[in-house]
Amino acid sequence: MAASRALRFLQTLRLGELGLARERCAICGFGWLVRLARSEMGVRCARCGASAVTQSLVATLRAEVPALASAAVYEMSAQGPLVAFLRRHCAALTTSELLDDVAPGDSRDGVLCQNVERLTFADASFDLCTSSEVFEHVEDDAAGFREVHRVLRPGGRFVFSVPLHDAAQTQERFAVRDGERIAVQPLAYHADRYRGATILVQRDYGRDLVQRLHAAGFADARIVLPPQRVFGHARPIVVAARGD
Ligand SMILES: [Zn+2]
Repeated sequence: MAASRALRFLQTLRLGELGLARERCAICGFGWLVRLARSEMGVRCARCGASAVTQSLVATLRAEVPALASAAVYEMSAQGPLVAFLRRHCAALTTSELLDDVAPGDSRDGVLCQNVERLTFADASFDLCTSSEVFEHVEDDAAGFREVHRVLRPGGRFVFSVPLHDAAQTQERFAVRDGERIAVQPLAYHADRYRGATILVQRDYGRDLVQRLHAAGFADARIVLPPQRVFGHARPIVVAARGD
């Protein structure tokens, strides 16, 4: 699998886009960033490998969650630079992946399986929930948002990234007709970092994502532009808060 990943990586590499910049990584503080491609996923820290999206998320966490060091955190992935950052900077960290053939709440090879539409955690378990590029893949995202709200403590934060489109309304890519999910847009996929496969995109979020979070019970929801850019790239990050 590592070899095929390396091959896919080389196939995406465009020599004309390669670059090096004397900029500080928002996560590990290393002073060199590399540009492998002119995209937010193609600009990375030369040491920890964090993309502009992950760096935007962590810079927003540092700015918006002052009590990070004492926080009990749930992150919806089990590896990568974001997990490494949370492990170093938070009081307690729970991670998970959506695993095939594993019941939510069970583990395989030390990795906990969770389905965000029906989390197995008790109510009010965490001070902070985070996710990166997850919710655009969740079939019933409203159920997922309600579940995150449920497992957060009063005053807890939900800080996450999804691809945000410059549109007022979210565009659903599927509709339910006669109990079946039917594609109403051309199928789109993203790479699934954990399983090394691709995963269907369920919707393209617009600015009404804020209203969707309010509808799920969040007292406050905002789209925040991170405080720094990475090779000119910065991803707006969603910050939602459970009421007290
Ligand atoms: Zn770094």
